[in-house]
Amino acid sequence: MKFGIYVHIPYCLQRCTYCDFATYERGQILPPEQYILLLKEEIRQKQKAFPKGELTTLYFGGGTPSLLPSQQILAVIQELANTGFAVGPATEVTIEINPATIDARKLDHYLEMGVNRFSVGAQTFNDPLLKSVKREHNALQTRETLELLSNRKVNFSFDLLFALPGQTLEILENDLAEVVRLKPAHVSPYCLTVPEGHVLSKGRPLEDTQLDMFEMIRKTLVTEGYHRYEISNFSLPGFESRHNSLYWDDEAYWGLGLSAHSYAPKSGPFGTRYWNPNSIGGYQKLIESRSETVSEPHGNLQPELYEVLEAHQALTDFCHTSLRRERGLDLEHVRRKFGPAGLRLVTGPLQDLVQRGWLRSPQTGVFTLTEEGLLVSNQVFSNLAFLQEEWAKAAT
Ligand code: SF4
Repeated sequence: MKFGIYVHIPYCLQRCTYCDFATYERGQILPPEQYILLLKEEIRQKQKAFPKGELTTLYFGGGTPSLLPSQQILAVIQELANTGFAVGPATEVTIEINPATIDARKLDHYLEMGVNRFSVGAQTFNDPLLKSVKREHNALQTRETLELLSNRKVNFSFDLLFALPGQTLEILENDLAEVVRLKPAHVSPYCLTVPEGHVLSKGRPLEDTQLDMFEMIRKTLVTEGYHRYEISNFSLPGFESRHNSLYWDDEAYWGLGLSAHSYAPKSGPFGTRYWNPNSIGGYQKLIESRSETVSEPHGNLQPELYEVLEAHQALTDFCHTSLRRERGLDLEHVRRKFGPAGLRLVTGPLQDLVQRGWLRSPQTGVFTLTEEGLLVSNQVFSNLAFLQEEWAKAAT
Protein backbone atom coordinates (compact mmCIF):
# COMPACT_ATOMS: atom_id res chain seq x y z
CA MET A 1 0.00 0.00 0.00
CA LYS A 2 1.30 3.45 -0.94
CA PHE A 3 1.25 6.27 1.58
CA GLY A 4 2.79 9.75 1.56
CA ILE A 5 3.09 12.72 3.89
CA TYR A 6 2.97 16.37 2.87
CA VAL A 7 4.38 18.97 5.28
CA HIS A 8 3.38 22.58 4.70
CA ILE A 9 6.00 25.22 5.55
CA PRO A 10 4.22 28.58 5.22
CA TYR A 11 7.16 31.02 5.17
CA CYS A 12 8.13 33.24 2.22
CA LEU A 13 10.54 36.11 1.77
CA GLN A 14 7.74 38.14 0.25
CA ARG A 15 4.34 37.44 -1.25
CA CYS A 16 4.32 37.01 -5.02
CA THR A 17 1.47 38.93 -6.64
CA TYR A 18 -0.27 35.88 -8.12
CA CYS A 19 0.03 33.55 -5.12
CA ASP A 20 -3.01 32.21 -3.32
CA PHE A 21 -1.27 29.61 -1.18
CA ALA A 22 -1.55 29.80 2.59
CA THR A 23 1.81 31.45 3.27
CA TYR A 24 3.12 34.45 5.17
CA GLU A 25 6.09 36.75 4.94
CA ARG A 26 8.58 36.10 7.69
CA GLY A 27 7.77 38.30 10.67
CA GLN A 28 4.02 38.15 10.02
CA ILE A 29 3.66 34.73 11.51
CA LEU A 30 5.00 32.92 14.57
CA PRO A 31 8.73 32.08 14.48
CA PRO A 32 9.57 28.85 12.60
CA GLU A 33 10.75 27.06 15.76
CA GLN A 34 7.27 27.48 17.25
CA TYR A 35 5.63 26.29 14.05
CA ILE A 36 7.85 23.18 14.07
CA LEU A 37 6.61 22.46 17.61
CA LEU A 38 3.02 22.63 16.34
CA LEU A 39 3.90 20.18 13.55
CA LYS A 40 5.42 17.80 16.09
CA GLU A 41 2.31 18.02 18.24
CA GLU A 42 0.11 17.34 15.21
CA ILE A 43 2.21 14.26 14.43
CA ARG A 44 1.71 13.04 18.00
CA GLN A 45 -2.04 13.64 17.95
CA LYS A 46 -2.79 11.95 14.60
CA GLN A 47 -0.12 9.24 14.32
CA LYS A 48 -2.55 6.42 15.22
CA ALA A 49 -4.84 7.31 12.34
CA PHE A 50 -2.30 6.42 9.64
CA PRO A 51 -0.51 3.29 8.48
CA LYS A 52 2.99 3.15 9.97
CA GLY A 53 6.02 1.86 8.12
CA GLU A 54 8.32 3.04 5.37
CA LEU A 55 6.86 6.05 3.60
CA THR A 56 6.33 6.02 -0.15
CA THR A 57 6.91 9.76 -0.28
CA LEU A 58 7.61 12.71 1.99
CA TYR A 59 7.14 16.20 0.57
CA PHE A 60 8.05 19.56 2.13
CA GLY A 61 6.09 22.24 0.30
CA GLY A 62 5.06 25.77 0.94
CA GLY A 63 5.78 28.54 1.06
CA THR A 64 9.51 28.29 0.82
CA PRO A 65 10.73 25.39 2.99
CA SER A 66 14.34 26.20 2.07
CA LEU A 67 14.05 29.48 4.00
CA LEU A 68 14.15 27.50 7.24
CA PRO A 69 17.43 26.24 8.70
CA SER A 70 17.85 22.66 7.47
CA GLN A 71 17.96 21.43 11.10
CA GLN A 72 14.29 22.37 11.44
CA ILE A 73 13.37 20.22 8.45
CA LEU A 74 15.48 17.44 9.93
CA ALA A 75 13.60 17.78 13.24
CA VAL A 76 10.32 16.98 11.43
CA ILE A 77 11.86 14.00 9.60
CA GLN A 78 13.19 12.66 12.91
CA GLU A 79 9.89 13.18 14.71
CA LEU A 80 8.11 11.24 11.97
CA ALA A 81 10.72 8.46 12.15
CA ASN A 82 10.41 8.25 15.95
CA THR A 83 6.65 7.88 15.58
CA GLY A 84 6.91 5.06 13.03
CA PHE A 85 6.83 6.93 9.70
CA ALA A 86 10.29 6.16 8.45
CA VAL A 87 12.15 7.43 5.44
CA GLY A 88 13.68 4.38 3.78
CA PRO A 89 15.96 3.82 0.80
CA ALA A 90 12.97 3.75 -1.56
CA THR A 91 11.21 6.85 -0.17
CA GLU A 92 10.99 9.85 -2.47
CA VAL A 93 11.80 12.86 -0.27
CA THR A 94 11.15 16.21 -1.95
CA ILE A 95 11.75 19.73 -0.77
CA GLU A 96 10.59 22.87 -2.54
CA ILE A 97 13.32 25.48 -2.75
CA ASN A 98 13.45 28.98 -4.12
CA PRO A 99 16.48 30.33 -5.95
CA ALA A 100 19.04 32.03 -3.70
CA THR A 101 17.83 30.23 -0.58
CA ILE A 102 20.32 27.37 -0.62
CA ASP A 103 24.07 27.04 -0.95
CA ALA A 104 26.38 24.03 -1.30
CA ARG A 105 26.47 23.45 2.47
CA LYS A 106 22.72 23.43 2.84
CA LEU A 107 22.42 21.14 -0.17
CA ASP A 108 24.87 18.70 1.44
CA HIS A 109 22.87 18.73 4.65
CA TYR A 110 19.64 18.03 2.76
CA LEU A 111 21.28 15.10 0.98
CA GLU A 112 22.63 13.72 4.27
CA MET A 113 19.18 13.82 5.84
CA GLY A 114 17.70 11.83 2.95
CA VAL A 115 16.22 14.50 0.68
CA ASN A 116 16.55 13.13 -2.85
CA ARG A 117 14.40 15.42 -4.98
CA PHE A 118 14.39 19.22 -5.27
CA SER A 119 11.56 21.26 -6.73
CA VAL A 120 12.66 24.76 -7.67
CA GLY A 121 10.35 27.76 -8.09
CA ALA A 122 12.13 29.11 -11.18
CA GLN A 123 9.00 30.48 -12.97
CA THR A 124 10.78 32.50 -15.71
CA PHE A 125 14.29 33.66 -16.54
CA ASN A 126 13.13 37.11 -17.56
CA ASP A 127 14.08 39.67 -14.89
CA PRO A 128 11.44 42.33 -15.67
CA LEU A 129 8.71 39.64 -15.52
CA LEU A 130 10.06 38.25 -12.24
CA LYS A 131 10.02 41.74 -10.81
CA SER A 132 6.53 42.46 -12.12
CA VAL A 133 5.09 39.58 -10.06
CA LYS A 134 7.27 40.37 -7.02
CA ARG A 135 9.43 37.28 -7.16
CA GLU A 136 12.30 37.73 -4.74
CA HIS A 137 15.04 36.34 -7.00
CA ASN A 138 16.51 37.23 -10.37
CA ALA A 139 17.38 34.99 -13.31
CA LEU A 140 21.07 34.85 -12.44
CA GLN A 141 20.27 33.51 -8.98
CA THR A 142 17.92 30.94 -10.50
CA ARG A 143 20.67 29.77 -12.87
CA GLU A 144 23.16 29.53 -10.00
CA THR A 145 20.77 27.43 -7.90
CA LEU A 146 19.87 25.14 -10.80
CA GLU A 147 23.53 24.75 -11.77
CA LEU A 148 24.38 23.84 -8.18
CA LEU A 149 21.81 21.03 -8.35
CA SER A 150 22.77 20.02 -11.87
CA ASN A 151 26.50 19.85 -11.04
CA ARG A 152 25.75 17.56 -8.06
CA LYS A 153 23.69 15.37 -10.39
CA VAL A 154 20.73 15.37 -8.01
CA ASN A 155 17.16 14.85 -9.12
CA PHE A 156 15.51 18.23 -9.59
CA SER A 157 12.40 19.71 -11.10
CA PHE A 158 11.37 23.25 -11.84
CA ASP A 159 8.20 25.22 -12.41
CA LEU A 160 7.66 27.41 -15.44
CA LEU A 161 5.00 30.08 -15.20
CA PHE A 162 3.55 31.33 -18.47
CA ALA A 163 0.87 33.71 -19.81
CA LEU A 164 2.10 36.52 -17.57
CA PRO A 165 1.21 40.11 -18.49
CA GLY A 166 3.71 41.27 -21.09
CA GLN A 167 5.07 37.79 -21.76
CA THR A 168 5.66 37.00 -25.43
CA LEU A 169 6.36 33.79 -27.29
CA GLU A 170 10.00 34.94 -27.66
CA ILE A 171 10.36 35.33 -23.88
CA LEU A 172 8.90 31.87 -23.38
CA GLU A 173 11.24 30.49 -26.04
CA ASN A 174 14.19 31.81 -24.00
CA ASP A 175 12.81 30.14 -20.86
CA LEU A 176 12.54 26.86 -22.74
CA ALA A 177 16.13 27.23 -23.95
CA GLU A 178 17.13 27.23 -20.25
CA VAL A 179 15.17 24.00 -19.73
CA VAL A 180 16.98 22.41 -22.65
CA ARG A 181 20.35 23.60 -21.32
CA LEU A 182 19.81 22.59 -17.67
CA LYS A 183 17.85 19.41 -18.44
CA PRO A 184 15.87 18.98 -15.20
CA ALA A 185 14.38 15.51 -14.76
CA HIS A 186 10.93 17.04 -14.39
CA VAL A 187 9.22 20.26 -15.50
CA SER A 188 5.88 21.67 -14.36
CA PRO A 189 4.67 24.40 -16.71
CA TYR A 190 1.62 26.19 -15.48
CA CYS A 191 -0.54 28.91 -16.94
CA LEU A 192 -1.08 31.95 -14.72
CA THR A 193 -4.62 31.89 -13.37
CA VAL A 194 -5.99 34.95 -11.64
CA PRO A 195 -9.58 36.12 -11.21
CA GLU A 196 -10.98 38.93 -13.33
CA GLY A 197 -10.11 42.29 -11.85
CA HIS A 198 -6.85 41.00 -10.35
CA VAL A 199 -3.92 43.32 -10.93
CA LEU A 200 -2.31 40.65 -13.17
CA SER A 201 -5.41 40.09 -15.28
CA LYS A 202 -4.55 42.99 -17.60
CA GLY A 203 -2.05 42.84 -20.47
CA ARG A 204 -1.90 39.05 -20.57
CA PRO A 205 -1.33 37.21 -23.86
CA LEU A 206 -4.61 36.58 -25.69
CA GLU A 207 -6.18 33.16 -25.39
CA ASP A 208 -4.89 32.02 -28.80
CA THR A 209 -1.37 33.05 -27.81
CA GLN A 210 -1.74 31.18 -24.53
CA LEU A 211 -2.63 28.06 -26.51
CA ASP A 212 0.39 28.67 -28.77
CA MET A 213 2.51 28.94 -25.64
CA PHE A 214 1.30 25.62 -24.31
CA GLU A 215 1.93 24.04 -27.70
CA MET A 216 5.45 25.51 -27.83
CA ILE A 217 6.17 24.08 -24.38
CA ARG A 218 4.79 20.66 -25.30
CA LYS A 219 6.68 20.42 -28.57
CA THR A 220 9.99 21.53 -27.06
CA LEU A 221 9.75 19.17 -24.12
CA VAL A 222 8.60 16.17 -26.15
CA THR A 223 11.46 16.76 -28.63
CA GLU A 224 13.84 16.74 -25.66
CA GLY A 225 12.61 13.32 -24.48
CA TYR A 226 10.11 14.38 -21.82
CA HIS A 227 6.67 12.85 -21.68
CA ARG A 228 3.55 14.55 -20.47
CA TYR A 229 2.45 12.12 -17.78
CA GLU A 230 -0.12 14.58 -16.41
CA ILE A 231 -1.81 17.65 -17.91
CA SER A 232 0.77 20.11 -16.57
CA ASN A 233 3.67 17.85 -15.67
CA PHE A 234 6.41 16.53 -17.92
CA SER A 235 9.25 14.24 -16.95
CA LEU A 236 12.08 12.21 -18.35
CA PRO A 237 11.14 8.50 -18.21
CA GLY A 238 11.22 7.23 -14.63
CA PHE A 239 11.24 10.69 -13.05
CA GLU A 240 7.51 11.28 -12.64
CA SER A 241 6.68 12.83 -9.26
CA ARG A 242 5.73 9.88 -7.10
CA HIS A 243 4.22 12.18 -4.50
CA ASN A 244 1.83 13.94 -6.88
CA SER A 245 0.97 10.56 -8.39
CA LEU A 246 -0.48 9.55 -4.99
CA TYR A 247 -3.02 12.37 -5.36
CA TRP A 248 -3.97 11.30 -8.85
CA ASP A 249 -3.99 7.55 -8.13
CA ASP A 250 -6.54 7.62 -5.30
CA GLU A 251 -3.89 6.70 -2.71
CA ALA A 252 -3.75 7.79 0.95
CA TYR A 253 -1.83 10.86 2.04
CA TRP A 254 -1.50 12.85 5.23
CA GLY A 255 -1.09 16.63 5.10
CA LEU A 256 0.59 18.20 8.10
CA GLY A 257 0.54 21.88 8.93
CA LEU A 258 -1.36 25.00 8.03
CA SER A 259 -4.12 24.39 5.43
CA ALA A 260 -2.71 20.96 4.54
CA HIS A 261 -5.15 18.49 2.98
CA SER A 262 -5.33 14.76 3.65
CA TYR A 263 -7.17 11.84 2.11
CA ALA A 264 -8.06 8.43 3.47
CA PRO A 265 -9.52 6.28 0.66
CA LYS A 266 -10.60 3.53 3.07
CA SER A 267 -12.46 5.79 5.50
CA GLY A 268 -16.17 5.70 4.61
CA PRO A 269 -17.55 3.91 1.54
CA PHE A 270 -15.78 6.25 -0.91
CA GLY A 271 -13.04 7.84 1.16
CA THR A 272 -12.77 10.94 3.35
CA ARG A 273 -11.01 14.23 2.71
CA TYR A 274 -10.02 16.52 5.57
CA TRP A 275 -7.99 19.64 5.91
CA ASN A 276 -6.47 22.00 8.45
CA PRO A 277 -7.59 25.63 8.86
CA ASN A 278 -5.98 28.03 6.40
CA SER A 279 -5.14 30.80 8.85
CA ILE A 280 -2.20 30.39 11.17
CA GLY A 281 -4.34 31.45 14.15
CA GLY A 282 -6.94 28.81 13.30
CA TYR A 283 -4.33 26.09 12.86
CA GLN A 284 -2.54 26.95 16.08
CA LYS A 285 -5.83 26.97 18.00
CA LEU A 286 -6.83 23.59 16.58
CA ILE A 287 -3.57 21.92 17.56
CA GLU A 288 -3.31 23.56 20.97
CA SER A 289 -6.95 23.01 21.91
CA ARG A 290 -6.68 19.24 22.09
CA SER A 291 -4.24 16.95 23.72
CA GLU A 292 -5.64 13.48 23.01
CA THR A 293 -4.61 11.28 20.10
CA VAL A 294 -7.22 10.34 17.50
CA SER A 295 -7.69 7.03 15.74
CA GLU A 296 -9.72 8.32 12.78
CA PRO A 297 -8.02 10.89 10.52
CA HIS A 298 -10.90 13.32 10.96
CA GLY A 299 -11.43 12.49 14.64
CA ASN A 300 -12.47 15.58 16.66
CA LEU A 301 -12.54 17.84 13.60
CA GLN A 302 -15.40 20.25 13.12
CA PRO A 303 -17.67 19.26 10.21
CA GLU A 304 -16.38 22.13 8.03
CA LEU A 305 -12.91 20.58 8.13
CA TYR A 306 -13.74 17.23 6.55
CA GLU A 307 -15.92 15.63 3.95
CA VAL A 308 -16.97 11.99 3.82
CA LEU A 309 -17.25 11.55 0.08
CA GLU A 310 -20.49 10.41 -1.48
CA ALA A 311 -20.48 8.18 -4.54
CA HIS A 312 -21.20 10.95 -7.08
CA GLN A 313 -18.39 13.15 -5.67
CA ALA A 314 -15.88 10.31 -5.61
CA LEU A 315 -16.81 9.30 -9.18
CA THR A 316 -16.38 12.89 -10.38
CA ASP A 317 -12.95 13.13 -8.71
CA PHE A 318 -11.97 9.75 -10.09
CA CYS A 319 -12.86 10.71 -13.68
CA HIS A 320 -11.00 14.03 -13.47
CA THR A 321 -7.82 12.73 -11.87
CA SER A 322 -7.72 9.73 -14.23
CA LEU A 323 -8.08 11.89 -17.33
CA ARG A 324 -5.37 14.26 -16.12
CA ARG A 325 -2.98 11.32 -16.43
CA GLU A 326 -1.37 10.18 -19.66
CA ARG A 327 -2.65 6.67 -19.03
CA GLY A 328 -6.26 7.91 -18.83
CA LEU A 329 -9.52 6.54 -17.49
CA ASP A 330 -9.99 2.78 -17.46
CA LEU A 331 -13.58 1.54 -17.32
CA GLU A 332 -12.42 -1.59 -15.52
CA HIS A 333 -11.19 0.62 -12.66
CA VAL A 334 -14.53 2.45 -12.66
CA ARG A 335 -16.35 -0.88 -12.44
CA ARG A 336 -14.13 -2.10 -9.58
CA LYS A 337 -14.58 1.03 -7.48
CA PHE A 338 -18.13 2.10 -8.39
CA GLY A 339 -19.84 -1.02 -9.73
CA PRO A 340 -22.47 -1.09 -12.50
CA ALA A 341 -24.01 2.26 -11.43
CA GLY A 342 -20.67 4.03 -12.00
CA LEU A 343 -20.30 2.40 -15.41
CA ARG A 344 -23.82 3.40 -16.40
CA LEU A 345 -23.15 7.03 -15.46
CA VAL A 346 -19.85 7.52 -17.26
CA THR A 347 -20.44 5.58 -20.48
CA GLY A 348 -22.73 8.12 -22.21
CA PRO A 349 -20.61 11.24 -21.51
CA LEU A 350 -17.42 9.41 -22.49
CA GLN A 351 -18.84 8.37 -25.85
CA ASP A 352 -20.13 11.89 -26.42
CA LEU A 353 -16.66 13.34 -25.68
CA VAL A 354 -15.06 10.89 -28.12
CA GLN A 355 -17.47 12.05 -30.83
CA ARG A 356 -16.57 15.69 -30.14
CA GLY A 357 -12.92 14.83 -30.65
CA TRP A 358 -11.90 15.65 -27.06
CA LEU A 359 -11.27 12.07 -25.97
CA ARG A 360 -9.81 9.07 -27.75
CA SER A 361 -9.95 5.42 -26.86
CA PRO A 362 -6.51 3.94 -27.60
CA GLN A 363 -7.65 0.53 -26.35
CA THR A 364 -11.01 -0.94 -25.49
CA GLY A 365 -12.40 0.60 -22.32
CA VAL A 366 -9.59 3.16 -21.87
CA PHE A 367 -10.06 6.88 -22.56
CA THR A 368 -7.46 9.64 -22.80
CA LEU A 369 -7.58 13.33 -23.70
CA THR A 370 -6.79 14.27 -27.32
CA GLU A 371 -4.58 17.31 -28.05
CA GLU A 372 -7.77 19.32 -28.53
CA GLY A 373 -9.25 17.87 -25.34
CA LEU A 374 -6.15 18.98 -23.40
CA LEU A 375 -6.77 22.55 -24.48
CA VAL A 376 -10.40 22.46 -23.34
CA SER A 377 -9.95 20.15 -20.37
CA ASN A 378 -12.22 22.24 -18.14
CA GLN A 379 -15.10 21.65 -20.56
CA VAL A 380 -14.28 17.96 -20.70
CA PHE A 381 -14.32 17.75 -16.90
CA SER A 382 -17.59 19.64 -16.61
CA ASN A 383 -19.17 16.89 -18.74
CA LEU A 384 -17.96 14.38 -16.20
CA ALA A 385 -19.27 16.05 -13.05
CA PHE A 386 -22.07 14.03 -11.49
CA LEU A 387 -24.94 15.01 -9.22
CA GLN A 388 -26.33 13.07 -6.29
CA GLU A 389 -29.68 12.61 -8.12
CA GLU A 390 -27.91 11.20 -11.18
CA TRP A 391 -26.10 8.66 -9.01
CA ALA A 392 -29.32 7.74 -7.21
CA LYS A 393 -31.05 7.15 -10.55
CA ALA A 394 -28.17 5.08 -11.95
CA ALA A 395 -28.02 2.99 -8.77
CA THR A 396 -31.68 1.93 -8.89
S1 SF4 B 1 7.39 32.03 -3.16
FE1 SF4 B 1 5.81 30.59 -3.84
S2 SF4 B 1 4.55 30.22 -2.02
FE2 SF4 B 1 5.77 32.08 -1.61
S3 SF4 B 1 4.45 33.78 -2.20
FE3 SF4 B 1 5.72 33.27 -3.99
S4 SF4 B 1 4.50 31.79 -5.16
FE4 SF4 B 1 3.60 31.93 -3.11
